[in-house]
Amino acid sequence: MRQVILLRYSEIHLKGKNRILFEKALFENINFSLKDIEHQLKKFSGRYIISDFNEIYLDNIVDKLTKIAGIYSFSVAYEVDSKYENILNCAKKITKNFEGAFKVSTNRADKTFELDSMSVSKKIGAEILSINNKTFVDLFDPKNILYIDIRENKKTYLFTEITLGVGGMPVGTSGKGLLLLSGGIDSPVAGWRMIKRGMKIDCIHFESFPHTSRAAEQKAIDLAKVLEQYNGKIKVFVVSVAKIQEAIHAVCDPEFMVTIVRRFMLRIAQKLAKLHDYQALITGESLGQVASQTIESMAVIGQVVDLPLLKPLIGYDKQETVELAKKIDTYDISIKPYDDCCTVFLPDSPVIKPKLSKVLLQEKNLNIDLLIDNAINSMRIRFPSEE
Ligand code: ATP
Ligand code: MG
Repeated sequence: MRQVILLRYSEIHLKGKNRILFEKALFENINFSLKDIEHQLKKFSGRYIISDFNEIYLDNIVDKLTKIAGIYSFSVAYEVDSKYENILNCAKKITKNFEGAFKVSTNRADKTFELDSMSVSKKIGAEILSINNKTFVDLFDPKNILYIDIRENKKTYLFTEITLGVGGMPVGTSGKGLLLLSGGIDSPVAGWRMIKRGMKIDCIHFESFPHTSRAAEQKAIDLAKVLEQYNGKIKVFVVSVAKIQEAIHAVCDPEFMVTIVRRFMLRIAQKLAKLHDYQALITGESLGQVASQTIESMAVIGQVVDLPLLKPLIGYDKQETVELAKKIDTYDISIKPYDDCCTVFLPDSPVIKPKLSKVLLQEKNLNIDLLIDNAINSMRIRFPSEE
């Protein structure tokens, strides 16, 4: 008997070519995630199996698997040749700590196996009872379940737990997006939601040194590093908006500061996206959360882009986003108290329902193309995984 990990994937409606792409991407993503740990990965009848790893890395592997989009669930299992004696011996070993109610649940995919699934469950259940007097059978409310999966490859898998994975689709099967990543709570969660749907992301971060500290930028890099565990390697475009903010501050009505800076951010992100073949921009906006996220503000800000502008958190309450941020391990980084560039030159009362005509009039005072080109020319590219 040897220890393996059985993986199941979701999206059962996948058909034909889509299914092949999905399976290939998931296979590669699992191998990439486990690249530092010696292992074998094989696919068989709608499942994947990881084997030939050193058991001291088991927790490490499990942790990585809980972060791979496209995995529906997985189980640490024991594999034996499909002979009744082997199955029984293994079952006895892995149930020896069972206490209280239990049941055996058998799945016989190999119809040539000598006993049907009900008979296997009954016989093995009776054997466990005869050697473990701390346990009893309850088919309807068991505390422990022994799963026996008799597969077509003449191997049987025994396990007692099924851990849910991220679900969703493998990264790389839903195109490429550019995430506007601040140091806040929302944007990393927004990125994660798109990763979960199979979109491969890179990030753009806007800083405003010397008005903001280098620590604020580092926060975004640290957040990208967490997202890399789900997405694979991430590139972060770091663009300074200091000069843009100074220009706006010098010639525009202060109440439009936030609206106009946001429009610059989107224009710059879109220009880079088109240059580097990203199919969408992603932000962490949520309807009504702050002045710049009223429906009127979002309309005026979004007016500068023609690429799809994805806002996966648009219908989320803050608390729902916070819970997800904790779950994906970005929260503790996001709440570190470094100023974001959006707090620079902040007016006392930003306009909540900006009018496009007024904003366009304000922007006439600026050399928009030159400001954008200068910002892009001084851009830096960082790779969190290499730092
Ligand atoms: P977050 O928690 O993601 O910062 P927020 O609720 O603070 O979001 P805003 O500050 O209004 O909202 O930002 C809205 C969105 O604009 C962010 O979710 C992010 O996608 C983008 N954004 C804001 N600031 C930056 C920045 N400095 N760099 C990159 N993107 C930014
Ligand atoms: Mg913010």
